[in-house]
Amino acid sequence: MLDGKLLIGGKWKTCEKTFESLNPATGDIIGRACLAGSEEVIEAVKKAKLAQKTWNKIDISDRVKIFTRIRDELLKRSQDISNLITMEMGRPLFESNIEVHLTSEMINYFVNEGKTFLEGDAIQINSHNFSFTRFEPVGVVGIIKPWNYPLLLPFWAIAPALIAGNTVVLKPSDLTPFVGIEIGKICQDAGIPDGVINVVTGDVFTGKSLVSSDIDMVSFTGSSATGKNIMKNSADKLHRISLELGGSDAFIVFKDADIEEAINGAVWGRFMNCGQVCISPKRIFVEDDIADSFIEGFVKKTGDLVIGNGLDPETDIGPMVNMEQREKLKLQVEDAIRKGAVVELGGKIPLSLQDGFYYEPTVLTGVTPKMNVMNEEVFGPVAAISVFENMDEAIALANRTIYGLGASVWTKNLDTAMSMSSQLECGMVWVNEICTLHPQCPWCGIKHSGMGKDLAKYGIREFVSIKHVNINTGTEKTRSWWFPYGGR
Ligand code: NAD
Repeated sequence: MLDGKLLIGGKWKTCEKTFESLNPATGDIIGRACLAGSEEVIEAVKKAKLAQKTWNKIDISDRVKIFTRIRDELLKRSQDISNLITMEMGRPLFESNIEVHLTSEMINYFVNEGKTFLEGDAIQINSHNFSFTRFEPVGVVGIIKPWNYPLLLPFWAIAPALIAGNTVVLKPSDLTPFVGIEIGKICQDAGIPDGVINVVTGDVFTGKSLVSSDIDMVSFTGSSATGKNIMKNSADKLHRISLELGGSDAFIVFKDADIEEAINGAVWGRFMNCGQVCISPKRIFVEDDIADSFIEGFVKKTGDLVIGNGLDPETDIGPMVNMEQREKLKLQVEDAIRKGAVVELGGKIPLSLQDGFYYEPTVLTGVTPKMNVMNEEVFGPVAAISVFENMDEAIALANRTIYGLGASVWTKNLDTAMSMSSQLECGMVWVNEICTLHPQCPWCGIKHSGMGKDLAKYGIREFVSIKHVNINTGTEKTRSWWFPYGGR
């Protein structure tokens, strides 16, 4: 049984209340983590404020050096961390390994580019007047993250925020507290100074306490509902917020696409991480001429997926993260069936896997805009497929959602791809590609999918304020626009 403490000001502390972390594949308790209350959160923020004064004065090259050590520590422990991720949130070990490597790649990117992205501009106004801009850290960043990428998403914020001179208080998801604690340990073992990173495990109330504390910014990734709450609760403090929220991405297949490739991409995109991915293609639209062959191939490929414990190397799909998420998914499928959807595959809890929170990979066809699967985020292994007749209809269907995270378009015609990419209401468009991420490309949503920018130069600049300095070196005693007016 693991025993989780809080990392505050460089010390590991116990607290009175604790909560359990469960293995979703078995329902077994993995360990008990500290449930931080508002007092602990306030203390962590105080330590972070104190540490920021010194951390900000360290040369950026030295802050970057610490991140090379953090990356090395991460890779050294890669197998143990992958196991921990799979134990806490259920996904296949293969995918957990990918998460560790994506995290190290992203850290590497900010190690190499962070300093350049934080160089300001010099602006010559005239012969005796010039300006320059300087990027300055925001201060203390409260980082609140979900369970579906429990290592990558916290580090998406930690690496750029710290390299830019901020300090942080991390509140990991209540479903993956031990991965959050591991992040603290890795940073400490890499030699990060006390108080620069603090980890407060806990629940919704821990998160709320962090939002209403004396932080300077919230970096949040999670559901749109929580994002709205955070925005409301941040209003009084007027601190900066970065919100990366839910999605209901469209996957649009035109008749000229490579059907086999599109099927392979759609099945992987929809079912990896058990369908619990923000940019997973939650609504699949297929042009009518190829709909039958696409659906036949999609159902066959999905039927071949192996469902089981993520620690088993044969497993393609693990359990869902908890009972609550599975219940929500069951209700969405029941609603679709009641309103006329056809279950081509799955649609139930597998008989042979009753202990964990499993749900069969499910394919629904004949879905219509009235169904909840088309209007709510479907965060589990359910693919909803419908048919369109032409590009205008595809765009109307794809944009008919409150979400605006990503979209994926499959066609061999580059004009079609370009036209779609400009008409789709979302922050990211993939063409003949699905669910990839590159640290050098921005990650962002619009509409109810948020207003954050992660990765690339935009990601690190979320964590700084821009200061403009104007200097006059001239000798004039006055200016033509100063008093007195009217030619006196
Ligand atoms: P969630 O919103 O329930 O929780 C996210 C985090 O917020 C957790 O740490 C939770 O404890 C905390 N929290 C909950 N209520 C809070 C409050 N009122 N104040 C402060 N903190 C609070 O989300 P989840 O179920 O953990 O994650 C799944 C969601 O995350 C999905 O909607 C998914 O699409 C989204 N997501 C988005 C992205 C993206 O990049 N856009 C990436 C991954 C996940």
